[in-house]
Amino acid sequence: MTVTLEGKRAIVTGGSLGIGAAIARELARQGADVAINFRRHDAEARQVVADIEALGRRGLAIQADVASFTDAQRMVAQVVEAWGGLDILVNNAGINRDAVIWKMTEEQWDEVLATDLKGYFNYIRAVVEIFRAQNSGKIVNITSINGLRGKFGQTNYSAAKAGIIGLTKALARELGRSNVNVNAVAPGLIETDMVRDAPPKVIEAALAEIVLARLGKPEEVAAVVAFLCSEAARHITGEVIKVDGGQYI
Ligand code: NDP
Repeated sequence: MTVTLEGKRAIVTGGSLGIGAAIARELARQGADVAINFRRHDAEARQVVADIEALGRRGLAIQADVASFTDAQRMVAQVVEAWGGLDILVNNAGINRDAVIWKMTEEQWDEVLATDLKGYFNYIRAVVEIFRAQNSGKIVNITSINGLRGKFGQTNYSAAKAGIIGLTKALARELGRSNVNVNAVAPGLIETDMVRDAPPKVIEAALAEIVLARLGKPEEVAAVVAFLCSEAARHITGEVIKVDGGQYI
């Protein structure tokens, strides 16, 4: 069975940086046209589109806040109008605003839940009628091992990431009869901007946990996402796959 996405049309949220940018490039490398959104990093988003086009695929970068329901509707409509349909949704855009619960502000809680959990609902809601009507589709939600185990200083992020796992499993049940696969990928610590900004002691503590004794790379997450989007993974749904070098066993 070949792993190919030839002719598929995909949306990757938060595709300007890090894991999302690597996913966008990998889907394109495997043959898909890829639209990304971003909020702030315009030049980086345009570079990802240039990389997609250099691979011979169509690319689009659209400024859209994932926390906005109407932005999601607008972006999906724009992609469908440009490319005539949609086959793949990868929900990836996420932020963290860490604090222990006794110092966490309402804004920190709300911002993370609005981006990391409601943002996923917004895009799923915008594509679900398309996927149901065509009786096919792939949805991959990027969660985190911290949604599985909980992380000190990240009650907001862990709650959102655990919520994504519940969302993935319930949605897999709802869309199975429509031939739509819904899965989640749970990375451990991956070398991106989100992590480069973390205090050195946080990185050292994580490295001590990782069985393979190194940080993961965005491309290693992207490879698993591309597999889940392919026909090779057509009998996998409702699953959460960790890509964490054994950080949480
Ligand atoms: P980065 O901070 O490197 O990139 C985040 C991406 O999300 C950027 O493209 C950013 O775009 C986009 N984004 C953030 N907020 C919004 C928003 N409101 N609307 C639209 N786009 C937005 O993060 P990572 O690549 O590290 O993380 C990607 C995903 O992987 C997240 O869901 C994260 O929780 C998860 N993850 C990461 C881990 C890691 O170790 N790095 C571990 C486990 C999970 P822009 O800046 O242009 O606005």
